[in-house]
Amino acid sequence: MEHKITLIPGDGIGPEVARAARRCVEAAGVNIAWEVVAAGQDAIEDYGEILPQNVLDSIKKNKVALKGPIITPIGTGFRSVNVAIRHALGLFACVRPAKSYIGVRSPYKDIDLVIIRENSEDLYAGIEFEEGKPETAELIASIEKYTHKKIRPDSGISIKPISKFASERIARFAFEYALKNNRRKVTAVHKANIMKFSDGIFLKAAREVAKDYADRIIFEEAIVDNMSMQLVQKPKDYDVLVLPNLYGDILSDLCAGLIGGLGIAPGANIGEDMAVFEAVHGSAPKYKGMNKVNPTAMILSGVLMLRHINEGKAADRLENALKKVLAEGKSVTYDLKMRRDDPTAVGTQEMADAIIANL
Ligand code: NAD
Repeated sequence: MEHKITLIPGDGIGPEVARAARRCVEAAGVNIAWEVVAAGQDAIEDYGEILPQNVLDSIKKNKVALKGPIITPIGTGFRSVNVAIRHALGLFACVRPAKSYIGVRSPYKDIDLVIIRENSEDLYAGIEFEEGKPETAELIASIEKYTHKKIRPDSGISIKPISKFASERIARFAFEYALKNNRRKVTAVHKANIMKFSDGIFLKAAREVAKDYADRIIFEEAIVDNMSMQLVQKPKDYDVLVLPNLYGDILSDLCAGLIGGLGIAPGANIGEDMAVFEAVHGSAPKYKGMNKVNPTAMILSGVLMLRHINEGKAADRLENALKKVLAEGKSVTYDLKMRRDDPTAVGTQEMADAIIANL
């Protein structure tokens, strides 16, 4: 069966890691007709826009995309192309597995966690009031009127909306994910003891949804500060974590740290009927065009994509080939070597070649 998939190479190191991932996914034996579209710096040069409409149209049509990282330009009015894609396509769930691989240096072994982050609300909704603007002064006055609490007039304000709808939706997604992926436990992470009216809604929704799965999946709750310590001390006690947007963002980087860094961590942004797969790392502009960076995170994002399109056997083959290359530690990029200046480190495409040779 032929799969039509949108490929967004991205910018910075994006095109290099996307090329490596594309080659590996194809070599795993799936028939893919890629629709390659430009977003990011290249799109500005060709279309005068950082996120041209044809990118969103292509994903809407094909329902699945593999995306390289894209720089967040400063001062263009665009908060982030990545956030804009998630919002425009309703990709409400961000799934970030954190799994240990032999050969990747880390103080921890055998980590196998999945972070499920709510993608649409919270402080990431982008509702902000700038310091000194008349509307900010008006908001400060209203807050004082309704809460009798004073806010300094020289403050900026970011709004944190959390709804019942989105909280129930992400909690259900997390439990369904746990069921489908043979997971045993879901932990809802929050700060509802302090933010009773926003995180409180999130926690209440998670508790309600958990009841529907009580016979199959264990449910636990954890306060985000305590969770940060627990993840460092006893990461193996956890399985699937479901979090509001901001805590999800922070703890997914923490979990990437547990497994050896950003070069290894894959991700997926999933909506009702669409999904975009991308590495957790950014476009690392200083390495652009050097064929130097680690393609693992992007290749593992390709593995997640293959599972999503029901190509589980190809996904297993590709993950196993990657595991072999990582465990052998020979044909790997500089960041996976004991010393970063190790002259035996290979380039991005050469690491992909080694993985393909092991398929
Ligand atoms: P980054 O992840 O791009 O890079 C930080 C550092 O991590 C790099 O300097 C490098 O040392 C290391 N690194 C990252 N990817 C690596 C890889 N594949 N192999 C080896 N080392 C790797 O983070 P940044 O420098 O904060 O962000 C650069 C740009 O990327 C920013 O504009 C940011 O907004 C954007 N960004 C995009 C995405 C996305 O597209 N989803 C995600 C995060 C950041």
